[in-house]
Amino acid sequence: MPPFDQHKAKLQARQAALLTRIGGIGEELVSHQEKDWEDMALQREGEEVLETLGLDAQAELRAIQAALGRIETGEYGRCQMCGAPISAARLDILPDTPFCKDCAP
Ligand SMILES: [Zn+2]
Repeated sequence: MPPFDQHKAKLQARQAALLTRIGGIGEELVSHQEKDWEDMALQREGEEVLETLGLDAQAELRAIQAALGRIETGEYGRCQMCGAPISAARLDILPDTPFCKDCAP
């Protein structure tokens, strides 16, 4: 197994960006609640969009943290389903994927 320093750096950079984004979404939700909105439906709609963005970011963050964990344990680069090595080309595009291309949903 080659060292995955580049993937690790990429995952850590992405993790930091997501943490910043999730923090920003939380602040924006709070600022929405502080505003004196005339149209409650519009406010609600805006919050739902922000919450969905937050959930997407959190799901991606979990995948990235799991991938970083696999680098630590030496499982990174192997499919979590069938155990086959995941191609370098695939890991370059999807550094947080736990599956080879045959097992990917
Ligand atoms: Zn597989």
